[in-house]
Amino acid sequence: MATDPDCIFCNIVAGAVPCFKLCEDAETLAFMDINPVHDGHCLVIPKAHYPSLFAIAPEAFAAVARVAARVARAVNQAVQPEGLNLVQSNGEGAAQSVLHFHVHVLPRRLGDGVLMNWRPQPGDMTHIAALAERIRGFL
Ligand code: 5GP
Ligand code: ZN
Repeated sequence: MATDPDCIFCNIVAGAVPCFKLCEDAETLAFMDINPVHDGHCLVIPKAHYPSLFAIAPEAFAAVARVAARVARAVNQAVQPEGLNLVQSNGEGAAQSVLHFHVHVLPRRLGDGVLMNWRPQPGDMTHIAALAERIRGFL
């Protein structure tokens, strides 16, 4: 499996960096984003390191897509937003900041004014941990 020792998400997959895990299987990992736009904001990644959509193997993309749909349904039940985006960014111009393929599961609120390129703000870790526990209950 391709891995990059300098990649933060590879380090999360390896267990060297902690995360609020939602679920995992042989190919994928889903965990909470620590700079959430809204409650329930989380990420789904392949365990293997692919920098972007342009490098990911089709089977890995399919595995991530399956899990993203499942996690999105759990987030929807857990935090009951007014809407939800799946966001997947590739390259600097798309504001991709972590060069390991990932899909954002992004709950939305009416009138939240969220633009595609939001400015991350640190979240409250206790609150994020509680939300992770809640979402896991729907998986
Ligand atoms: P991008 O801007 O590349 O589409 O999204 C990367 C996301 O990864 C951001 O929302 C950011 O908050 C999240 N992120 C960056 N570093 C970490 C980390 O160490 N742990 C977690 N859980 N999320 C991270
Ligand atoms: Zn990586």
